Amino acid sequence: MCLATREEVRPGMTDTGIDRDALRRRYAEERDKRLRADGNAQYVRLADRFAEAARDPYLPMAEREPVRDDVTFAFIGGGFAGLTVGARLAEAGVRDVRIIDKAGDFGGTWYWNRYPGAMCDTASMVYMPLLEETGHRPTEKYAHGPEILAHCRRIGEQYGLYGNALFHTEVTSLEWDEVRARWVIGTDRGDRFTARFVGMGTGPLHVAKLPGVPGIADFAGHWFHTSRWDYAYTGGDPSGAPLDGLADRRVAVIGTGATAVQCVPELAKHCGELYVFQRTPSSVDVRGNRPLDAGWFAGIATPGWQQRWLDNFTENWEGVLLDPARTAQPDDLVQDGWTDLARRLRALLAALPPEERTGARILRAFEDADNAKMTAIRARVDAVVRDPETAARLKPWYRQLCKRPCFHDAYLQAFNRPNTHLVDTDGKGVERITETGVVAAGREYPVDCIVYASGFEFGTDYTERAGYDPAGRDGLRLSAYWADGMRTLYGLFARGFPNLFLVQLGQGANLVSNVPTNYAEAAKTVAATVRHVLDRGLAAFEPDQAAQDAWIDLLVARGRPFGSPDCTPGYYNNEGQAPGPRQRFNVGYPDGAGAFFVMMERWRAAGTFDGLTFTGG
Ligand code: NDP
Repeated sequence: MCLATREEVRPGMTDTGIDRDALRRRYAEERDKRLRADGNAQYVRLADRFAEAARDPYLPMAEREPVRDDVTFAFIGGGFAGLTVGARLAEAGVRDVRIIDKAGDFGGTWYWNRYPGAMCDTASMVYMPLLEETGHRPTEKYAHGPEILAHCRRIGEQYGLYGNALFHTEVTSLEWDEVRARWVIGTDRGDRFTARFVGMGTGPLHVAKLPGVPGIADFAGHWFHTSRWDYAYTGGDPSGAPLDGLADRRVAVIGTGATAVQCVPELAKHCGELYVFQRTPSSVDVRGNRPLDAGWFAGIATPGWQQRWLDNFTENWEGVLLDPARTAQPDDLVQDGWTDLARRLRALLAALPPEERTGARILRAFEDADNAKMTAIRARVDAVVRDPETAARLKPWYRQLCKRPCFHDAYLQAFNRPNTHLVDTDGKGVERITETGVVAAGREYPVDCIVYASGFEFGTDYTERAGYDPAGRDGLRLSAYWADGMRTLYGLFARGFPNLFLVQLGQGANLVSNVPTNYAEAAKTVAATVRHVLDRGLAAFEPDQAAQDAWIDLLVARGRPFGSPDCTPGYYNNEGQAPGPRQRFNVGYPDGAGAFFVMMERWRAAGTFDGLTFTGG
């Protein structure tokens, strides 16, 4: 049974007046339609036979001699993780930090993703790292890509990270030399150098993927992935200059995730004809971007301001999710889409009499809050999109956090343009690419250019995505060590891999609503640990077996999993595949990100580095 296109609100059916059971049925139906046996295997990498399309379109690769020296710290990845770690190390007096990145400059995701309209929809005040340290005032509540990329360069300059950096360089091997207590690093540029410490922080979404549909290599027109935008073909630039190369072109966009939501409005303005191929609609809420006022900023930017904002965001976002008894509303400094969601949950719980704030009733309140939000998001589609059939197809039928929530004030509006056509595939996706176009539901759409907004690898093994497989003590490979699931202490240290830091989300804070916070916090721990080793003239550290085992036991017993198998498939839930035994290790600290950050702050302040073993000296 399907719900009517325009939702009926039948009084008395739920606390929020929405038919909860009908929604559950519709959500399950839509999910089942999209489940497929091949999961992640449906995709192909933008590599190998597509290597030409994977090359850097933004900066030419400069020739250089291979490097064969020794540095104190090598960090793999020049995005927010590498920059924040590099900055904290510089502050701690460690100056010979070498950041290595396959890109031509710092920036990570913001280096590659320069598609028109790129911006961040987590508030800049908490998303952009080291604002206080650099003195940069974000120009908008949600900064655009070029400003974020410039900020990355600012951090690189301010902390002296350029001098030692190796760009357009991919690490191909990483081996621990026990005798010298050094990591030996090999790269695709012939480098072979050593480092006392290594950090790995390549981000969760750095390997672009394409739909592995038949004919994908056959297209004779022009094509590119959104993370390799070809401005030479489209005209324009990342700052919003018109894409005048597309004026007479027929363009297909494949995918309707967070990236497409941002670039479709720009393409719609400039293409001759635009065909947007949709498998699953995104939820697109109001964005409400605005400039940040200099006077206002000067007033709030008192010492310690960014940490206060970060703490406030974390508290607002997850407080109620972890402790539903906490219905009091803390001040919400950030006021973005994420904290709005938490605010609504809190209001619903506050309306429940205290004796009813338990178990099933709370889960139902969460569901009702979600139903109300998603109903409003669907109603927004009707309010914005003039053609009722197109509007019906643009409506998302799943709970809001099943997929990356999107926020935009021009995406839905784009479908009112006569040149912009939604090709909805009813959950099936495009079938085939031909020499001349894209096929969906048996019909070919001839186009001049295909833009793949098809996302990035996620559920594959860490070492597979990294492109190298660290060999720790006695040659133990990280892939072998994690064959039955990831094992770390605090998500940062791994037994058998001395002097190695894993700067990532899992088994730590796992704060997915604002990824840079995870890195900012990890950077402090990295700097404190390195300083400790250097100050005491030690050689190496690694986690104790007992401490790591206890951490894993805690996570497995009570950790918070990422994504729900009940959701519509996507990278949040491993494409809807049943979670295997390894999945239970992909969790965050059970008491939440805020509690994790406090715990690590205390750990650093104690200066005893409990759980780590130090050798040498
Ligand atoms: P996503 O993985 O979110 O989206 C990929 C899209 O491709 C989906 O719509 C997917 O459909 C679609 N797709 C895949 N295969 C096919 C097919 N055969 N036919 C038709 N469609 C297909 O990638 P994005 O690049 O959009 O976003 C990745 C992440 O990057 C986001 O989730 C977010 O975390 C981050 N991001 C953040 C932004 C921000 O801050 N504003 C902006 C952009 C990205 P289906 O949903 O059915 O799988």
